[in-house]
Amino acid sequence: MTTALELSVKLHYLRQKLATLNLDAMLLTFLPDARWLTKFSGSNGTVLLTRDNAWLFTDFRYQEQVKTEVENAEPVITSDGYVAEMKSGKFSFGTRVGFQADKLAFATVEKMKEELPDIEFVPVTMFCEEFVAVKDSDELEKMRKAVAITDKVFEKILEMISPNVTERDVAAEISYWNKRFGAEKDSFDPIVASGPRGAFPHARATDNFIQNNSLLVIDMGCMVSGYCSDQTRTVAVGKISDEARAVYNLVLEAHLLGIRSAKAGMTGRELDAIAREFLTANGYGEAFGHSLGHAVGLQVHELPTIGRKGEMKIPVGAVITIEPGVYLPGKFGVRIEDMVLITERGAEPLPKAKKELIEL
Ligand code: ZN
Ligand code: ZN
Repeated sequence: MTTALELSVKLHYLRQKLATLNLDAMLLTFLPDARWLTKFSGSNGTVLLTRDNAWLFTDFRYQEQVKTEVENAEPVITSDGYVAEMKSGKFSFGTRVGFQADKLAFATVEKMKEELPDIEFVPVTMFCEEFVAVKDSDELEKMRKAVAITDKVFEKILEMISPNVTERDVAAEISYWNKRFGAEKDSFDPIVASGPRGAFPHARATDNFIQNNSLLVIDMGCMVSGYCSDQTRTVAVGKISDEARAVYNLVLEAHLLGIRSAKAGMTGRELDAIAREFLTANGYGEAFGHSLGHAVGLQVHELPTIGRKGEMKIPVGAVITIEPGVYLPGKFGVRIEDMVLITERGAEPLPKAKKELIEL
């Protein structure tokens, strides 16, 4: 259930931020942030937030949709874009206006300054990220649904995995079952990487047949009302080597250690270091070349980053992934990834999918 209170909390925090930054208004041009605040799911939307008002500028295509969808802002249908509306004199937003400096093209900013010479445009980063990181009950419900679908799809595709099908066949089935089980779409192109291709952490599915007697990495997710899931399992097809089995068990240990260690208030860097030191102590530090995880929400990758550059603290209410991996070029790769909810007590894994090695 969405409560009016939770929705107004978003506005409350953002307006506090306006005050802290001494801004009269803030432009949210980054669509996932505009959606986070207003629930508007269209492809074109910019929010102008002031101390007393909030407008969502979008176009004619969405004039019906905004009536039922938009919260926390007054929808404005425009044919000429938000800058033209700001010039029109119909909206009062003061003179010091922040913009999302890390999300807006340089040329767009230059144009905005040219069109509105009396406005002082202030570059702002991290305006809403710390609030976006904390999921409310409505957002959590959507994410739990997305994870439950991913669990079901994973079960379903286990039935079809064999050396007689290609990576792309498996990827296609994932996309198909995502929709059949009620998701809007994939949250990213499924990664299905067999044998040595598993050593490429972001391998795209190819026309190669699934290799027998090897490991298969499957990284998949779906979207429910815009909210993403993201989950990886590595399964054995046929008989695998002792080395592959040992590495699997090591990655599983690192994954479980990551979940046990995750606490609100620690930085992403601190959490990453725990799993990294464990893999390093076991001789596989070099083979773990990516971050331990990332937050998830309306985007598959959000802040806080759970990695070496993760200086942001992990708040209660964040949903992050714990996904250590070991990649041995020419041989195989192993990754195990769960989304976990950070609570007062620690980390609660959202998926139910089995983690002990599945052998097909
Ligand atoms: Zn993933
Ligand atoms: Zn991930």
